[in-house]
Parts: sequence; C-alpha cells; structure tokens
Amino acid sequence: MRIAVLTSGGDSAGMNPAVRAVVKAGITKGCEVYVIREGYEGLVRGNTAPPRPHRKVHRNLPAERLAHFGDDSLLKNLSFGDGPALREGAGDAEEDEQESGTLKGRHIVRVGWDDVRGWMGEGGTFIGSARSAAFRTPEGRLAAAHNLIKEGIDGLVVCGGDGSLTGADRLRAEWPDLVKQLLSSNQITQDQATTYAHLKISGLVGSIDNDMALTDMTIGAPTALHRICEAIDNINSTAASHSRAFVVEVMGRHCGWLALMAGVSAGADYVFIPEQPPKSQPWEEEMCEVIRRHREVGKRKTIVIVAEGAHDRDLNPIKADKVKDVLTEVLKLDTRVTTLGHTQRGGRPVAMDRILPTLQGIDAVNALLEATPDQPSYMIGIHENKILRIPLVDAVKQTQAVAAAIEARDFATAMSLRDPEFEQFYHAFNLTSTLEKGNRLPREKRLRVAILHMGAPAGGMNAATRTAVRYCLSKGHKPVCINNGFKGLLDDNIADVTWLKVDNWTARGGSELGTNRTLPDTDLGGVASKFQQHQFDALFMIGGFEAFSALLILEKARKDYPAFNVPMVHLPATISNNVPLTDFSLGCDTSLNALVDACDAIRQSASASRNRVFVVETQGGQCGYIAAMGALATGAVIVYTPERGINLDTLRADVRFLKARFMLDEKGKSEGRLIVRNEKSSDVYSTELITSIIKEEGGDLFDARSASLGHTLQGGIPSPIDRARAVRLTMMCMEFLEKHAHDLLQHPPHRRRGTRDTAAVITIQGSGIKFVPVEDLVAHADMKKRRAKHTWWEGIKDLSELLGGRTDLVAHK
Ligand code: ATP
Repeated sequence: MRIAVLTSGGDSAGMNPAVRAVVKAGITKGCEVYVIREGYEGLVRGNTAPPRPHRKVHRNLPAERLAHFGDDSLLKNLSFGDGPALREGAGDAEEDEQESGTLKGRHIVRVGWDDVRGWMGEGGTFIGSARSAAFRTPEGRLAAAHNLIKEGIDGLVVCGGDGSLTGADRLRAEWPDLVKQLLSSNQITQDQATTYAHLKISGLVGSIDNDMALTDMTIGAPTALHRICEAIDNINSTAASHSRAFVVEVMGRHCGWLALMAGVSAGADYVFIPEQPPKSQPWEEEMCEVIRRHREVGKRKTIVIVAEGAHDRDLNPIKADKVKDVLTEVLKLDTRVTTLGHTQRGGRPVAMDRILPTLQGIDAVNALLEATPDQPSYMIGIHENKILRIPLVDAVKQTQAVAAAIEARDFATAMSLRDPEFEQFYHAFNLTSTLEKGNRLPREKRLRVAILHMGAPAGGMNAATRTAVRYCLSKGHKPVCINNGFKGLLDDNIADVTWLKVDNWTARGGSELGTNRTLPDTDLGGVASKFQQHQFDALFMIGGFEAFSALLILEKARKDYPAFNVPMVHLPATISNNVPLTDFSLGCDTSLNALVDACDAIRQSASASRNRVFVVETQGGQCGYIAAMGALATGAVIVYTPERGINLDTLRADVRFLKARFMLDEKGKSEGRLIVRNEKSSDVYSTELITSIIKEEGGDLFDARSASLGHTLQGGIPSPIDRARAVRLTMMCMEFLEKHAHDLLQHPPHRRRGTRDTAAVITIQGSGIKFVPVEDLVAHADMKKRRAKHTWWEGIKDLSELLGGRTDLVAHK
C-alpha cells in the first residue's frame, strides 16, 4: 500500500511523533510512505516538480560492511527515502521556494526511515500545517483527489483538529463522485478509477484544546496543559507575595478542557468555561462570592482562569479584562491579566504527547491496512488506557453537537456530550474549590477519615491528599491526616490540616505528610488501638506496593481486630507502577517526564559527540514499566527490563544491531543512540559492564557512556496529568468510602463485619476504573518480586526497539 500522512489546522506538540510513528509503522509493514507538506493546501497543490532520484543511504557500503547485517534484509532497506531533510531550512532550495507564504514544487514527498530521525522530541510539525480555503471548495477537493491518484496513494492519515477531520470525512464521502468526475473529464484512466475506487482514511486527533468528542485525549493537549500549569505555578508565588489576583486567559474557543483541567491541576479559585457558564445571571456576584470566601479564610492569592470562548448564559462573552475590572472594583483586589497565547502550543512534547501519538500513529496505519470498502473511516482515540477506533463520522457529529448545544444555550446537554470525565472534573473542581457549605451531609453520616502515605514519594500524592482533605471538609467529614505512615500513627503523629493549609499542595512534589515503609504488622494491636482511639470510620491510603501490602494485612486482621472493620481504600502511587491490576499509578507520568527531560539532554550530548551510545539506568525496582515506556518516549533503541532479563545472546544481538545501525548512518551525520536499562534487569550484566562491552565492541564505529538517573526520576513538580488523575481518583475513593461506611457504620463497632469488597484498591484497567477487593489482587501479584504477574505494557519493549530500528525483531515474530 502507498500511504500518506498530513498535519492540518493549528499545530500541536505531538504531531511530529505522530508522523514519525506513521512513517516507521508504514515502512515496517512494507508500505511506501509519503508525507504531504502544508496540510490540505499541499494536497490541493500537489507536485509540480519531478521527484528526486531514489536514495539509499547505504548504497555505497562495501560488501564486508554489509555482511554485518546478516539475514536482516529489512534493516538494509530501512534507510532510504527521497524525502529531503524536512526540517525548516534544510530542504532543497528549489522545493522550498516560497510563493505567497506557501510552498510550491513538491508537496507530496516519499520519505524513509531516517527522514524522521529525532522527531520524537520536537514541537510543532516539521511537515507544515496550514488552513486551506481551497480544500473547502469542491474544486479544491477534486484537485486533492487527483493528486492522490496521480501519486498512487490509496491510504491517508490526517492529523488535525475537528475541522481537519471533518474535511477528511467529507473527502471520503465525496470520493466516489470525485473519481467519477476525474474519469469523465479524462484526468484519470479507467484503470486508475478502478484501482482507486475507495480512499482509506484514518484520523489522528491533533489539537491542543482536547475538543474532539468520543476520545479522552487529543495529541497536544497534555503538553498545552503542562505549559499552562507551569505558568500558573510561576504566577502563584508572585500572586501570594503581593496578595494579588491574576486572571489567566487560556485557549479553547468551544471547549473548556484546558481551562477546567488547569483549574483542577493548578488549584485555581474560579474557572470560566464555554460548556457551563456561571449558574447565576449576571455572573459577577457568583464569582465574587467564591473569591470573597477564599479571602475570608486567609488566602493571599487569587487565580481565575478564563477560557478564550467563555460566555455567560446569554452567550455574552466573558473576557479576561472584564473579570479583572470586576475583581478590582468589587473586591478591591490588585489584579493583573496574563494571556498565555501561543506559548500554549507547547514546544517540546511531554511524555504523554510522545507515547500517545506513537501508539495511535501505529494503529492508524493498522486501521488503513485492515480497512475494507464497507467499513467506516476511523478516528483513533483513547479511553483511559485503551486505544480505540471510533467512526470518524460519529466523532465529528458529536463534536459538532456540543457546539450546537452551547449555541442553543442548552448547557446541560453540552456537558453531557463531553466525556464523562469532563463532568467529573467539573464536579471535583467545584467541590474542592468553592468552600460552599451546602454540600454538608447530616451529622450522623459524617465520618472521621484517616489519610496516610506509604512507600516512596510519587508525584500526585499531595494533590490526592489535598482533594481528600477538601472533599471531607466540604461534606462535613473530619479528615485526620497522619504524618509518617503507620509509624506516625503509632506515635500519634497527626498533622494539622485545614482547607487553606493544603491550598498549594497540588503543585508540590514529594510527600507533605511524610511517608514510611513500616507495615502495620510490626504492631497490629497498636495500630488497631490507634484506630479506636482516633475513632476512624474510614481509611484512605496513598502509596505503592507497600500500601497494597498494608491493606492486605489490615483486611486479614479484621477477624481479630474489629477496629479494622471500616471501609479502606488504597490509591496506587508509585513511580515503579508495580501495583497489580492497575495500568497506571500516580507518579508514573511525572517520572516519565523526568526521564524524557534527562534523556533529551543526554541524547543531545550523545549526538553532539557523534557515534556515541548512552546507557541510561532507571529506577523501578523489579518492574520495567518506566524503562520500557521511557524508551518508547525517548526513541531509545534498546531496553532492558527485569521481566525479560539480559543474557549473552541478547547482548550479542544488540551489539550486532548497533554496529549495523551505525554503519547505515551517513558519514559525519551519525546520531547518538540511547539504551535504557532498568536497575534490576540483571545482577551480572550491570550498566557499567554493558557500557564497557559496547565500547569495546564499537571499535572505531561508536563509543559508549553510562548515566544513572537515580532519584531524579521521582520528579520535582508533579505533572498536570498526575495532579488531575489524583483529583479524579481521590474523588472516587471518597465516594467509595462514603458508600461503604453508610452500610457498615449502621452497626455498633463490635458487630461490624467488613466484607471483602470494603477493602479495595482503585485500579485503571483498560477503558474503565474499578475498585478491586485487595484479596483479589494477590492472585495477580508476584509478592516476592513486588510486581504484577502480567503487565499490559509487556509489548512496549518490543515496540520501542522496533521503532528504534530493530527490524530483526520483525523476523522473530
Ligand atoms: P484546530 O483544533 O487547531 O482549530 P482544526 O483542524 O479544527 O484545528 P480548522 O481550521 O477548523 O482547524 O480546519 C483545518 C482545515 O481543515 C481547514 O483549513 C480546511 O482546509 C479543512 N476543513 C475544515 N472544515 C472543513 C469542511 N467542513 N470541509 C472541508 N474541509 C474542511
């Protein structure tokens, strides 16, 4: 198959990794791959210059060098492409001639494996994006169809926002008619009309707004959110210093995702989003009331986030300047406006904007290869952790329905048409940020909730604690925060927390409560008596494998210690991501971002010194998640995990691959290459030993160095994704505790019998979130190695190596 990929609409971080994935996956599957420069505009203009001669980088390699490739004939074929270096300024002068701001010459260009080298860590889109008026016209789409057929392309991947995917949907719907028109005007032959009777299209949603329905996340949204949160974190300190208010305007014409998520993740005071304007009219009083309450409890700073498309219930725009005037005049606050503008487009993609487009790009190619004429075109989406194919028409229709509902002032429908997550976040924001008294439960339903951290610190622990504390206060429960885990409980080390005290905790790394590895069975009787003494009605534990083990101990001890017959829940938080049955733990996104940052810097150094291999060692204990995912996100060529281990055969094959790969590089243009090794991959083949072997074997061809990332992987400031995930999952945990407490606490303490489902772990499994009784996790755990028996990311190691050029793996499969 000949497939082409284009990027369209506003650029977003993650578009380059998406194109890279499509190119590499396409080539691996035996397709010829093309990129279309300048989005639909390039498709309409097509090629007016002849193609450059086909190029094979290794064509001049002497026979003895080629012999190094052994049977790996696929690897021999990877490094070709007539794609000129596609980056800005590096193109062929004739091709890059500018005409009225757009390129003329060749817009549809065949590319090879190495043409997308190094694209993973780069923001924007190297193949260009444009808004094309021509493509909106029937003539433009006819020209586009003609160009595709002329180039022999029968599959198209479009990466763009809802407009771009609407355009793709339209092109496909009109395709039979366009082919007929081209045939009747003799622009194509009957043979061509028959061969290209169907156009196969896959959509990738590239948009910073996260405005596409039926998918949780669009490519570019995590990076945009990251930049916004960084900005607000920075504003926070100056706002507090001067007791100021800041109104921050963020992008989102029809979608309030960025504003809402920034509000949740950065701990704002008030947000304006298009889907749910303030309930009261005029809106000023509602906002002022909330902020007044915050100031009354002693808050020194105020952050209000306004989505670009915010409006009141009559659709009158609410602009940042107007909000500023209200805060200044009504509340007498010294107020400033910050418009983040194009900085939100993001630049370097965060880890998620590398992993998501990579996995989705691969599936977009698979969808093209599997497409049949009677199937709809798919948009590749994601729900929780499951990559999904959604009929493009449905997604476009539902996205347009949100805009229509807003237009009709039917805000309830607009909210309901967004993903269920959106509404959950809105509810979470309101509950934890408004200080409203109306949510309080009747006295008899109020609980004393114990909250503690266990194990090593992980990003998002503090955001989870803040949410739990504020949830409790809002509902009239009593949050009892314990410093220093179970050890602290035995020492009566209870933290003094208030609504205000936890205010800044979302952005704080580490563990504000302090964490400890002491398990409750060091003194079960003592722990039970503390449960009684403090009259705990529920327990909320945030931590990793220790927290899971602790919950198991407490659950088993229920028969001997009635004090443990209260609802108990564990929220997994560990950078190792080794808790069984959950796809993600809090902290692993932060950790991946720390790894990506470090590896980008290391790779730069490796590339600058040419011909260098860096062996990067990661934490993770006996679980290779961070190593495997980190390798995927950084484009590492080899990964070592404890699950697979290392032996002489693998090492020999790896060295052979490195030799072959470095030989393929054009003289003087060699790239540094990364290997990621989890700290516990092998007791014998240590990072140092592997580095020495590679160095020795590399001879004149390449050199090797090692770097250990150690505790830096715990990350400094938690990533917005970890913060938001912490908020959402904590809300669900609190609801879980309330629900089970309601049933359990009807009985006097000595007659309570906690059933197995009242001691549970909250897990993300595929596309759903489930509470699993802690007992049920045991069958899925390797208690000795402290990790899950089976992992969903098992294939990620192979995938990252495959994308790194390990095409010998294809032969093995
Ligand atoms: P963003 O989320 O950044 O706004 P987008 O893909 O929604 O991205 P648009 O400007 O709406 O950006 O669309 C990009 C291009 O897609 C348009 O310039 C046009 O060429 C094409 N397009 C959009 N809507 C249609 C349509 N209804 N019919 C044909 N083509 C369309």
